[in-house]
Amino acid sequence: MNTNEKPSALIIIFGATGDLANRKLFPSLYRLFEKGNLSEKFAVIGVARRPLSNEQFQQNIKNSVQSSAQEQALVDEFATHFYYHSHDVTDSASYASLKKMAEDLDSHYQLDGNRIFYLAMAPEFFGTIAIHLKEDGLTMVDGFKRLVIEKPFGHDLESAKALNKQIRKAFSENEIYRIDHYLGKEMVQNIEVIRFANALFEPLWNNRYISNIQVTSSETLGVEERGRYYEKSGALRDMVQNHMFQMVALLAMEPPIKLTTDEIRSEKGRVLKALRPIEGNKVNEYFIRGQYGAGDLNGKTLLGYREEQMVDPRSNTETYVAGKLMIDNFRWAGVPFYIRTGKRLSTKSTKIVIQFKDIPMNLYYQTEQALQPNLLVIHIQPEEGITLHLNAKKAGQSLNATPIKLNFANKGINGLNTPEAYEKLLDDCMHGDATNFTHWDEVALSWSFVDKISAVWENTKEENFPNYPAGSKGPKAADELLEKDGFFWWPMADLEVETC
Ligand code: NAP
Repeated sequence: MNTNEKPSALIIIFGATGDLANRKLFPSLYRLFEKGNLSEKFAVIGVARRPLSNEQFQQNIKNSVQSSAQEQALVDEFATHFYYHSHDVTDSASYASLKKMAEDLDSHYQLDGNRIFYLAMAPEFFGTIAIHLKEDGLTMVDGFKRLVIEKPFGHDLESAKALNKQIRKAFSENEIYRIDHYLGKEMVQNIEVIRFANALFEPLWNNRYISNIQVTSSETLGVEERGRYYEKSGALRDMVQNHMFQMVALLAMEPPIKLTTDEIRSEKGRVLKALRPIEGNKVNEYFIRGQYGAGDLNGKTLLGYREEQMVDPRSNTETYVAGKLMIDNFRWAGVPFYIRTGKRLSTKSTKIVIQFKDIPMNLYYQTEQALQPNLLVIHIQPEEGITLHLNAKKAGQSLNATPIKLNFANKGINGLNTPEAYEKLLDDCMHGDATNFTHWDEVALSWSFVDKISAVWENTKEENFPNYPAGSKGPKAADELLEKDGFFWWPMADLEVETC
């Protein structure tokens, strides 16, 4: 399909009364509608158990999009495209009436039999729903059929394989859109462009010129109400297996021969294949874990993880992970990729720092200030931008060097943050572009890496937990991980992008 064409489709959202649907999906669809990216030919069926009339559901939609809406008439018109089907997804009988409703809307809105099934529900239902969709004829359509599936995709390699087997009974791999919402973020998508559209960077993007790469994703929030889920997941499964690995793959992949979905995914997959496996007694050499204790942030006292709702008071679950990844290929041999992610830290920030090697001879070393290495910082969130850290002459008589920063800030230019990741991903899915969704091969490779770490951590209780106070910069062991190699984490405060 031409990407300028406005796609027609019936979108069936399973879990339509939930948090994700209300906070992300409805507002994102609304923004697409407001911008004219959705044609009149679309309809949405919301599925969940609680009884709601179409009118009540439409009111929910209006409430959820109101804060981002400009015009009430447009909101009202948007909401008329929404319909509700009360249905327990484990109840086989309900799928027949869902099918009838889908067929009626298909003909009413002339949707050409195009269907998107969005599973915004707990993962244990994913397989059941996919199988019912096939067996009860909802996927027997003249147009396209696509399945959008939320994270987590499995709990480990084995469960991910079992889930994949179930959904593949109803959908082929190219009809499955596995969401990793980091891939919808403007600056994550920008990694490729920064690398492959700049003669300045691509020749330097290898082990001859780069000394190390640091990827940080820190949150100030704790587990909130997600204690039950988080206890079984932890930071390794919740963040590293998907978001952190996806960013590393984009940073490390070879230039694709074409910007097609298959070529890009295949290059990313090759990076994950080249990751040095870390197992057994190597795990604690390459990876460290943390768990937050009580602390405070901005004058507010915060509970420790073990005091949170639905969390075991002796929990061994990690809320922080830092690790060193080695990519054993020609381009990256010898360059550590350090990753770290955690909850209840002092700042909310996702950043990538590319640290270049020192120049061969430092003429300015003896001056007032030692030369800083060149850094390229990619700010993913909450700020979006790029900063290049260089050295230049300090103004005045002497020939001293001083660090300077060249900044590009998306906020500064557009006055607004860029579109929500979900808005872009929904738009991509409507157009059949799966580039920014995760392929099964990437999921399988990431799980097989992560499983070896979990195997060690689940079998050894971490006696030092909790090992960092809420509101702090994380456990000391994360600093020691880099110190062993002669590096340090670049302090977040020194890396801020300056908006103009
Ligand atoms: P949630 O708020 O708990 O919503 C769950 C939804 O599923 C509700 O609409 C619920 O409605 C429905 N439901 C539960 N059991 C059902 C059944 N047997 N039959 C039919 N409907 C049923 O969950 P969420 O936070 O929206 O998360 C949904 C999915 O997105 C999860 O996989 C989560 O991991 C993923 N996710 C969420 C976020 C987020 O920001 N929330 C971010 C990333 C990923 P009824 O109770 O009315 O049935």
